[in-house]
Amino acid sequence: MSEDAGRPIGADSPPRSAELYARACRVIPGGVSSPVRAFRAVGGTPLFITRGSGAQVVDADGRSYLDLVGSWGPLIAGHAHPAVVAAVTEALARGTTFGAPCSAEVELAERVVAAYPAIEQVRFVSSGTEAVMSAIRVARAYSGRDLIVKFAGCYHGHADHLLVAAGSGLVTFGRPSSAGVPAAFTAHTRVLPLDDEGALEALFAQDGARIAAVIIEPIPANHGLLPQRREFLLTLRRLTQAHGALLIFDEVISGFRVARGGAAQLLDVTPDMATFGKVIGGGMPVGAFGAPRRIMSRLAPEGDTYQAGTLSGNPVAMTAGLATLELLERHEGWRELEARGAELERLLQPVLRQAPFPLHLVRVGSIFWLALHEQGAPRHAATLTPAETARFARLFHAMLARGVYLPPSAYEACFLSLAHGSADIARFAQALSESLAVAA
Ligand code: PMP
Repeated sequence: MSEDAGRPIGADSPPRSAELYARACRVIPGGVSSPVRAFRAVGGTPLFITRGSGAQVVDADGRSYLDLVGSWGPLIAGHAHPAVVAAVTEALARGTTFGAPCSAEVELAERVVAAYPAIEQVRFVSSGTEAVMSAIRVARAYSGRDLIVKFAGCYHGHADHLLVAAGSGLVTFGRPSSAGVPAAFTAHTRVLPLDDEGALEALFAQDGARIAAVIIEPIPANHGLLPQRREFLLTLRRLTQAHGALLIFDEVISGFRVARGGAAQLLDVTPDMATFGKVIGGGMPVGAFGAPRRIMSRLAPEGDTYQAGTLSGNPVAMTAGLATLELLERHEGWRELEARGAELERLLQPVLRQAPFPLHLVRVGSIFWLALHEQGAPRHAATLTPAETARFARLFHAMLARGVYLPPSAYEACFLSLAHGSADIARFAQALSESLAVAA
């Protein structure tokens, strides 16, 4: 067996997953195609998943788990929903890609435009990262300005200029948060704290005329779940408008999950541009960005701003997205997901009250997070202490041992789907109750 950064694979690791992981580590850096999958934050061997159905996944050793990861957000209808599988199978048989326009992309674009406030046109890409990267390019072209502003704790994909950490001080210059990103590439990025109108006002007072766009996850869900006060978002809306900067809502997680019109509809705050991913692709690689026509017409071939993709608007991926959105619309999906989230909250309340250490449930519809901060659930990016992080690792493994698959990091949100029924929710609450005692 191989070792992962000096940590031996645990004796109780599922053997087939451990074997695959050892092989993977030889030919794939860290054994994974995306870092957080590697279980570094919780220890142990990542599970290799062989199949999923509804709210369950089955690992390479044949063990099944109640899945709260949902592929990190896309699977709002659950794994392998028959309607999605049928639509995709039919599309597959007609050919996987043509590099030419297809009707499915028109239909999906029409749905996005109909659903989302202020969007008149949309362009499809293959990931959330691309969606954000391209949206920012258009925002810069449209505004004729260079500066972009993001918030600490929000993640917008791994484009160079967004891999930025906040320095010290309230209004900070971004510095690269990854090796391989030249400081010059982040020189036009500013980082602000969430939940802080004062910092916003100060930055706009100083640099307002140079800001092309402010990008925010309207429901930040990448450093735990950090719902913002509506007043904060309204201040952001007012300041961007007043200074001629575009407001971009990164709805890669929240889009088509928290409401048909995303966080913009739920919170009744309308941005100038929005980015999508995850749910919009129904489990296939899709991203999108949209805005009013006056902004989107800057894009090639109409305009002077270049952006392209071999597999963009892919017919199979578009079909998966369409089938998923149809399911949501037909079954009043968003109301149903809120009801399931509320049920989870109700069942967890007594469990949390009896928890042997501070544990807070933060929830927006079908997105929820168990915050382990002793100080209470934060509204800005707040780092957990080593003791709190260690607690999460124990909790994670106790849940896994009870057949519940949580995201393998204390900062990751969980996702419910239409496939999570009452029995699943009750099972989750029971497993959490038992696991808390073990983790204490
Ligand atoms: N924006 C947000 C808000 C995200 O959560 C993510 C991914 N978790 C991205 C952008 C990047 O999307 P992708 O991983 O598809 O590139």
